Amino acid sequence: MSAEATRRIRPVTDRDSAAWWERVRAGELTVQRCDSCGTRRFPARAYCHRCRTAGWSWEAVEPAGRIESWIVSHQPFLPGVREPYVVVMVRPAGAPECVMYGNWRGAEPPHTGQRAEAVFVRVDDELTLIDWRPAD
Ligand SMILES: [Zn+2]
Repeated sequence: MSAEATRRIRPVTDRDSAAWWERVRAGELTVQRCDSCGTRRFPARAYCHRCRTAGWSWEAVEPAGRIESWIVSHQPFLPGVREPYVVVMVRPAGAPECVMYGNWRGAEPPHTGQRAEAVFVRVDDELTLIDWRPAD
């Protein structure tokens, strides 16, 4: 994604996700962990989907994982973005029950099960994004 496109189209944070974006800006990949049952979850939500309690904590996970799936977009959805581009779905190594999405930085398309590592892309003082690249 070009820097120009990122300047125009920014993630919308909400009450639950704002703190996650702050941690990404600090270079940390995290998921929520339920204080009652230990279930990890992403994206951030106020309540546990398993036990329906509200208490939770952030848990840092290794900024690495495995490719679960991906798409190659040929549609000009975003102004300033050059097609085609690849968006991957990754299962973090430290929380494989969660999935995260991001742009792919590999020279070749990914494959299912491929090891990937997070790339923290600082856009400006307020925004850092996470892309993924091959770990091998
Ligand atoms: Zn729970």
